[in-house]
Amino acid sequence: MYTKAIYVMVDFLAVIIMFFTLYALDNVKHEYAKWLKRALMMGSIAVVANIFVALSYNALMASVAYCAYFSTIDWLLYFLYGFCLLYTEHDDILKKTSGLIVFLMLVDTVSIYLNFAFGHHFYIYEDVDSSGVSYFLTGLRPFYYAHLTLDYLVMLAALVFIVYRIVKSYSLYRVKYSIILSCLLVVVFLNLLYMALSLVLDISVVFYAVAGALVYGSITVFVPRSLMNVSLGRALDDIKEGLILFDINDSCIYANAFAKNRFNIDEETYNFACEPVSSVIKEIILTGETFGEIPYIKNAIRDGIAKTEHYKIKFSKLTDKNNRVIGSYFLIQDTTEEIYYLATINEAKNNADNANRAKSAFLANMSHEIRTPLNSVLGLNEMILRSEQDPEIRGYAEEIKQSGAILLSLINDILDFSKIEANKMELVPVEYNPHKLLNDIKQYFEQLAAEKDLYIKITCDSEMPSVLYGDEKRLRQVLSNIISNAIKYTKEGGVTVNVDCNFLSHKTLELKIEISDTGIGISEHDLSHIFDSFKRVNEGQNATIQGTGLGLTITKELVELMQGHILVSSEPGKGTTFNVSLPQTIVDKTPLGPFEEKHEVNGPKYQESFRAPTANILVVDDVQVNLKVVEALLKRTLVKVDKATGGAQAIKMCDEKKYDCIFLDHRMPSPDGIETFREISVSGLNTDTPIIVLTANALSGADVKYRQIGFSDYLSKPIKSDELEAMLIKYLPPEKVTLM
Ligand code: ADP
Repeated sequence: MYTKAIYVMVDFLAVIIMFFTLYALDNVKHEYAKWLKRALMMGSIAVVANIFVALSYNALMASVAYCAYFSTIDWLLYFLYGFCLLYTEHDDILKKTSGLIVFLMLVDTVSIYLNFAFGHHFYIYEDVDSSGVSYFLTGLRPFYYAHLTLDYLVMLAALVFIVYRIVKSYSLYRVKYSIILSCLLVVVFLNLLYMALSLVLDISVVFYAVAGALVYGSITVFVPRSLMNVSLGRALDDIKEGLILFDINDSCIYANAFAKNRFNIDEETYNFACEPVSSVIKEIILTGETFGEIPYIKNAIRDGIAKTEHYKIKFSKLTDKNNRVIGSYFLIQDTTEEIYYLATINEAKNNADNANRAKSAFLANMSHEIRTPLNSVLGLNEMILRSEQDPEIRGYAEEIKQSGAILLSLINDILDFSKIEANKMELVPVEYNPHKLLNDIKQYFEQLAAEKDLYIKITCDSEMPSVLYGDEKRLRQVLSNIISNAIKYTKEGGVTVNVDCNFLSHKTLELKIEISDTGIGISEHDLSHIFDSFKRVNEGQNATIQGTGLGLTITKELVELMQGHILVSSEPGKGTTFNVSLPQTIVDKTPLGPFEEKHEVNGPKYQESFRAPTANILVVDDVQVNLKVVEALLKRTLVKVDKATGGAQAIKMCDEKKYDCIFLDHRMPSPDGIETFREISVSGLNTDTPIIVLTANALSGADVKYRQIGFSDYLSKPIKSDELEAMLIKYLPPEKVTLM
């Protein structure tokens, strides 16, 4: 009785194990898992049939249960065979053989059930044990052995494919298949053992349950883990960084190939006292930190060459999920190349910066040197224009004036560019009247446009406030650059300038300026380059048009410096439109009304702005012709001009006479302008006379520099008549000046 109860309990246990395994297998998404599940399902049915065998109370019932049991074992083995083939990647062989095996299993199943009719597989007989409990046992007939052979053949085939795969795989994967093979061999062995013991009831199916659970454990836990460990080890040996792991007792448990090679690490003897770890300990761990990074330098000899190696060593404590320290790791990164490249890049950058500085200095010097003679040319030319009546000569002089103006604007462009490059461009905001600005621009460009038979139209929002605050000079420069380009690159039609204001608050507005022309236009490809420095687009067509390719670069930089934006759109053959938007401060909101052009009554003809016949000034310059220029420019103001050709002479004159104002050139042979200034301002009769420095140094910051030295003001060459007169009005004693 007890024996029976034990059989039934063991079988129940087997069913429970199988159900658990079936449930767990749901997580495995591979096709082979499905086959293992089918095998386990068959196993469950077989166990239930087995329970019925144990519980049967007559021969017929036992016979039915035995048939069910034997036939399900057929299918169990078929599905196990399928699992083994899929797991060992023999999918194609499964496809080819499954038809035959299914056929054989079907025949065997039918044959088993025909046992009722022919009794060719087994017969049932009753046996009573010592405690009086009866068992229905099977006596085996030849066909049963055929059934058994078929089952073992299928099993053998599965084993053959596993062994084949083990032989073919490389070591890492052998373990994966060996475990499955071991599980199946255990089943076969236990089965044989059971037969040898010839127990009363068949419990071999229990082994299938155990094997199923073992296989599941292998394919989901053990095999992937061991594979992962081996793969991780290999991967860590392949990477070009070092890794050293320590356990909680600070014993080295792992060092990858890189760490071992670079620092001669032997895991057995390596500890916290060895380099490079000991340096990290001193700098980070002893300070109580749980992670950190230090640079580390090592002098090494590699391939017989001494070399300094740079490393970055990262340290961190390792903790588990509950934040308990379980060890620590050190990550070693070779930064030798990085440091070498950084040094090279730094050197290259320094070289480039130096070259750039040299270039800017060269440009500034060049423009200085060109300005000095240009001062004489333009100044004396101005004299010709003022005194000469002969229209032919006046014509020549006008040409000189225009060419001089172009040359000057070119020099100014170069200077602006070098200022921008050196980040030295500064804005000088002033209050200005927008209409006056537009009017000046119109006056200036009208003549240029007329020479090419082009129109120039300017419109302005009638709500435009009467006084704005911004860098008028730079705004003028932006507009002039764009408009002069528009005229340059237009053959017929003209240029339209439209100015709108978009009030942003009661204090600020956005000045929206649209300048469009009907010129040659710019191709789409060229549009993306027109703001590049020294870049002239459409060179073929524009070869005969003067330009440096700097104008728009400066324009864009200026607009951005003024916190604005510039956009350009163009259609080749139709024209180009530039849109500039700039924030400006409103000083007086009174609307200016419609923009009307106001022609200057006097035209360009010169008219002195003041007269000061009693004023006496001193001009000092080592270039004679410059002295002449100043004298000539001031002729109509009746100011008395004394001239000195050097510092020494000027100092002497200042000792003898009191002047109302002194103009002093900077660059002179010793004593230069500054030395002369220092002398004059401490001794003689002119210690409190305003002294204005004359210089071709128009670099940004020059005015501040001169004021710091003590000069009252600064006038850049070439000297312009209006600037010179304005300076005198400012510095001459007011009682001596009569404004015109
Ligand atoms: P440049 O001194 O050559 O005029 P810019 O920087 O002012 O230099 O302009 C760059 C290039 O952009 C010019 O060479 C010209 O090809 C093109 N460009 C500028 N404005 C116009 C325009 N209004 N129409 C057609 N092309 C233009």
